[in-house]
Amino acid sequence: MSKAGEALAADRIAAAGYRALEPFPGKVNQRWLMECTECGEQQRLRPDTKLKPCQHKKREQQHQEAVASEQRLYDALVAVRTRALSTKNLRALEPHPGIEGTLWWVECKHCGRKWHMKEDHLRACPHKGSGDAGAPLPPAKPVPKKRTRKPKDGDPSFERFWEPLPVWWTVRGLPEGSNRYETAIMRGWWDKATAREREDRLAEQRDHIVATVAKARGVVVDPAKVTYTMGEEPR
Ligand SMILES: [Zn+2]
Ligand SMILES: [Zn+2]
Repeated sequence: MSKAGEALAADRIAAAGYRALEPFPGKVNQRWLMECTECGEQQRLRPDTKLKPCQHKKREQQHQEAVASEQRLYDALVAVRTRALSTKNLRALEPHPGIEGTLWWVECKHCGRKWHMKEDHLRACPHKGSGDAGAPLPPAKPVPKKRTRKPKDGDPSFERFWEPLPVWWTVRGLPEGSNRYETAIMRGWWDKATAREREDRLAEQRDHIVATVAKARGVVVDPAKVTYTMGEEPR
């Protein structure tokens, strides 16, 4: 193989997004150790006309594994908290807040008082006092045990009230793939909240993201670097 052939092979791998990790093997049909410049995966590929760009499969797989493992941890946490609620004779007034240590609106099943309790510090109701102010309004009707799925029986405003509105937090400065956190806000509360109340709720959640990152990962993050979007998960 001539020098021109080697230059052609080098151009070809560069165009496909790779970087060579060893000297050119001499022929385009011989495998050449290279790494993807984007995801770093190392492969032995032939620098011939069939060379394809990396699919970043390893990175994608690692990302999916990380997401799945976080989801399993979160599901386990919610199961533990749900058991704790029932042992304290409480019920949730909104979906689990999504972050450990955050406040959760719960209600005493016995006397109906509403409390804004830290989700990791649930206490039984003393059945005295007026509860905490600002609880989300319960829906007009009690929740029927089994809801029929027929549209004519559904109550769209009721469904919407309890629907969690996802908030996607991105922490700039953390590695991509592990810089995303999700929280949720009850849509019924959000719809009724003032702009100020919404801002305060988001600020509270942002502070908890910063605290969570500091505690779990030992990284101090400037809150200004924690941005959010609501609704659809951003790509
Ligand atoms: Zn790649
Ligand atoms: Zn009570």
